Amino acid sequence: MLDATFFRRWLSAATAVIEREADRLTELDSPIGDADHGSNLRRGFIAARTAVEKEPPGTPGGVLVMVGRQLISTVGGASGPLYGTLLRRTGKALGEEATVSPAQLADALRAAIDAVAQLGGAAPGDKTMLDALTPAADALASALASGAGTAAGLAAAAAAADKGALATIPLQARKGRASYLGERSIGHQDPGATSSALLLGALARTAAE
Ligand code: ADP
Ligand code: MG
Ligand code: MG
Repeated sequence: MLDATFFRRWLSAATAVIEREADRLTELDSPIGDADHGSNLRRGFIAARTAVEKEPPGTPGGVLVMVGRQLISTVGGASGPLYGTLLRRTGKALGEEATVSPAQLADALRAAIDAVAQLGGAAPGDKTMLDALTPAADALASALASGAGTAAGLAAAAAAADKGALATIPLQARKGRASYLGERSIGHQDPGATSSALLLGALARTAAE
């Protein structure tokens, strides 16, 4: 079972990896965007970590809702409302319980990814964060269904997200700024799919510790 402390540890790990990889995320956002994805997320995750450390919520849902709100108010651009929705909706779906099972987390993530797809009008294959998030949610659900524990399930999810992010390279972007480039968006890895893979990697490492 996963408690609020688990999600606070995830937030620390996620903020650390975003800080470490911010320059790379911004570099990925320069040929097909406006070179701000890393700095946007760094600002948002530092704000979220600060807010959560100041007044730590006592439930998993509370932590994730607080992170989502901070991302919405500080990240800006396309990814702020989308990641904010992802985290807030995951948190809301987890409700008020003090501990949640990995299966509850898988269901909550799935519902939140659907909300992101609805908000942004994107589907897998459009070269967005959904190309990492959707296969990750699928991999988590199927690993848990075949008896995997939390750490193995989240490791499968993170591996699927990495693969999904790499698989955005040959895609033509159909949503977001990169879509303005048409065919010239082909051959570049999507920054948002890459950051999604980093966030899921942090989740898998948190579960493995
Ligand atoms: P902006 O494009 O406003 O500068 P960011 O650079 O922070 O915002 O984020 C860009 C990322 O947001 C893209 O790489 C893509 O993964 C994601 N994104 C953009 N538009 C959408 C959308 N409609 N649906 C899902 N993800 C999107
Ligand atoms: Mg950008
Ligand atoms: Mg921008």
